[in-house]
Parts: sequence; C-alpha cells; structure tokens
Amino acid sequence: MPRSAKTRKPKLAVWKFSSCDGCQLSLLDCEDELLALADRVTIAHFLEASRAVVRGPYDLSLVEGSIATARDAERIHEVRRASKRLVTIGACATAGGVQALRNFRDVSEFLSVVYARPDVIDALETSTPIDHHVKVDFELRGCPIDKRQLLEVVSAFLNGRRPNVSSESVCTECKRRGLVCVLVARGAPCLGPVTHAGCGALCPACQRGCYGCFGPKEAPNTRALSARFIETLGASPSETARAFRTFNAWSDPFRKESEVLEESS
Ligand code: SF4
Ligand code: SF4
Ligand code: SF4
Repeated sequence: MPRSAKTRKPKLAVWKFSSCDGCQLSLLDCEDELLALADRVTIAHFLEASRAVVRGPYDLSLVEGSIATARDAERIHEVRRASKRLVTIGACATAGGVQALRNFRDVSEFLSVVYARPDVIDALETSTPIDHHVKVDFELRGCPIDKRQLLEVVSAFLNGRRPNVSSESVCTECKRRGLVCVLVARGAPCLGPVTHAGCGALCPACQRGCYGCFGPKEAPNTRALSARFIETLGASPSETARAFRTFNAWSDPFRKESEVLEESS
C-alpha cells in the first residue's frame, strides 16, 4: 500500500558548494544520532555519505560552502527552488569562508602565483555567502559547525519550530565553564567577546585565545575589542586587522572592523 502523504518521511538533502567538506563530516560524526535521524527522515541527497539520490523537492536542505564559481552561482538557485527550507552550515556558507580572503585583493594575481595554468581555473573574483544569492531560512555558524547545534537545528526544522541556538559570545561559555580568562590573565589576544558561541570555549580551555572561527555574535562590539588589543596588548592596527581576517573575514562586522583598522595603519 502506498504511504499516505501524512506518513511520508520528510526529505533531507545536504549540498556542497566551495568548501572543504568539514561541516558535512560533522553531520557524519553524529553517528548514533544520525541513525536515529535516518529513522525520522529520508536522507535524499547526501553525496558525502551515499551515491543514492532521491529526487526533490526536499523538505530541508543543509548547504555547505560558499559561492566561488560561476557554476556555484547558478546551482544555488536550483537548490533553493528544490527546497522548502534552506539552512546554511559553516563559515564558508554563512560568511564566504577562508577563501573570501581573496575578496580583499585581486584574484588574478593569486591565480597567477598559485596555479601553473591559471587559464583553466574557473573562479569568481569573490567568494560570497549563500545569503547574498538566495533566501536563507537559518544560518548555523562555525568552522566546522558544532554537531550538537546542528542536531538542534535539524530537529527544530523537522518539528516546525525555531532553533534554540544562542547568539551569545564565546565569553559566556568560557565564564560558564569557570575558565581563567587568557586575555586578562595572560595578555593573549582573544576574539571571544565578539565571537558566536557554540564551541564551548574550546581554545580558552587550552589556554589559547579564540580566533573567531564561529564568526560574529549578534551585535559584536568590535571597536572596543580592537582598542583593547592595541592599547593594552600592544598590537598594531594591521596585526589587529589580521585577527579579524580568518575564516569569517567577509562577515559584515569582521570585514568592516578590519577595513577601519587597515585604513588607520
Ligand atoms: S566552514 Fe570550515 S569546516 Fe566547514 S566546509 Fe568551510 S572550511 Fe570546511
Ligand atoms: S578567555 Fe577569551 S573567551 Fe574567555 S572570557 Fe576571556 S576574552 Fe572571553
Ligand atoms: S574558541 Fe573561538 S577559535 Fe576556538 S573553537 Fe571556539 S570559536 Fe573557534
């Protein structure tokens, strides 16, 4: 007997754009939870895990990677059209990724230095986040993403509710763990005050400053943190600008702060 529309399992799709696959691996790393998830949904398109593909439309699409080629720019519209809900996962998809560092310079210069045959490279001048191209229903930050946050987001969308992912800073997680502040106690540059929570303050727990891999928290005070780096830690404006230019360099708050610092250096 055919399944009725009421009992049909929702279809989940996972898509890769310009990325390293690390965020998709976070989903595979869910292991036991992934088996439970497979009971609840049809994993309809997830080429990192299986070549078997079920045709769309898809109830929920998870998109990894940035738009960095002309083909990416076309394909994301196909994915959007085939998806009822679209969630971007990771710094590449939400901020353009480390490959967006080229946005600050002339990409043709990089191509000529890095590749023996730059003429065969199909690269746009910029690497941009998915929401610059299509409507995105939710952005999950991190490089890579945190699997607990990912499971919460998938569960929320499958149950028709808003994900419970806090937009607080890494500092909040750090304080909750009772860690000694490496910025105050050791003078280590730490982007925790402006960085989105999710990792559980992994780096400060290893006595290292946060370098912002989860991207900007909601309404980050980047100006105040830069002043602290420069006035108290003795960093130069260009060193401080570089701190904002890593995996999330093209996110608006980090990009604007690095440009202000660059102008003043
Ligand atoms: S966000 Fe980081 S881990 Fe995820 S795909 Fe991009 S580079 Fe890889
Ligand atoms: S170590 Fe970093 S993340 Fe932790 S409280 Fe200090 S500034 Fe915030
Ligand atoms: S502390 Fe910062 S750099 Fe380290 S994992 Fe967390 S968000 Fe990433």
